[in-house]
Amino acid sequence: MAVPKRRTSKAKKNRRRTHFKLEVPGMNACPNCSELKKSHHVCAACGHYDGKEVVSKEA
Ligand SMILES: [Zn+2]
Repeated sequence: MAVPKRRTSKAKKNRRRTHFKLEVPGMNACPNCSELKKSHHVCAACGHYDGKEVVSKEA
């Protein structure tokens, strides 16, 4: 079985993990209420989509 010859340095390990992000993909801020929403989905907080109110939100 193949075994690593050298221990991976901290720098090498950290460089590899720069792509390892703790983030929800496909989310961005709503242009109406700036709440985080799924892109191409109606905003869950204010019910707006493409600058128009699609789903009315009861207070
Ligand atoms: Zn919104």
